[in-house]
Amino acid sequence: MHTQTEIKTCLACGKPIKGRSDKRFCDDYCRNAYNNQLKSATNNLVRNINNALGKNRRILENLLPEGEETAKSNKEKLLRLGFNFKYFTHTYITKTGKTYLCCYEYGYLPLENDWFLIVKWKEE
Ligand SMILES: [Zn+2]
Repeated sequence: MHTQTEIKTCLACGKPIKGRSDKRFCDDYCRNAYNNQLKSATNNLVRNINNALGKNRRILENLLPEGEETAKSNKEKLLRLGFNFKYFTHTYITKTGKTYLCCYEYGYLPLENDWFLIVKWKEE
């Protein structure tokens, strides 16, 4: 006589699951533990990205002298300050086809030789 040969294991604790084959957890406790863990991993990811974006924004803000509309900086300096090139909030493409990468109201345009033009968008 053939019974179910595949042994399903609980996604939370890894123990074999008894009973219905479509079950993914031993019980509600394991289901809640698993879901809470997923949620906190997502929260951590969101928080880390938000922190990186906030830091990027602060770095751009500090590099742009008060009253100036643009400033230049190079990649080495940005990296040293902790700038994370992976994260930006949006892009802005000018009429001439240049793509600025933006962190909130600040943007930067890659120039030649790892230099960047930093700008602050004016609110109009
Ligand atoms: Zn379990």
